[in-house]
Amino acid sequence: MDASTTPTGIEVSNKDQVLEISWEDGHTTVFPLYGLRKNCPCVMCRGGHGSMGDFEPEAFFEENPSRIEIRNLEQVGNHAIQITWGDGHNSGMYQWKTLRWLDPENHRPGDNEE
Ligand SMILES: [Zn+2]
Repeated sequence: MDASTTPTGIEVSNKDQVLEISWEDGHTTVFPLYGLRKNCPCVMCRGGHGSMGDFEPEAFFEENPSRIEIRNLEQVGNHAIQITWGDGHNSGMYQWKTLRWLDPENHRPGDNEE
């Protein structure tokens, strides 16, 4: 596995509304929970197979995001985590490589360079 998509640590703070992942390459990704919930990769949230991959990274920069909590987090195999949200939703499998790609740092508003 690639060091940039290999997690070395993961921390959830419902109080601070963030999920933090440390990666083997030394990078740390901080996800606001609201944005992560918005970007749930499940078929239902992505609007069906036709639009899979159509994420909304702008949700990470919402000015007054609604609070959402993580109730449970489980590792799925060695490639993903499954999050159970405070609203009961839990069908999203967040793959490590998707999470690394979703890193809010890669999607700052006004930064059009991919
Ligand atoms: Zn979903």
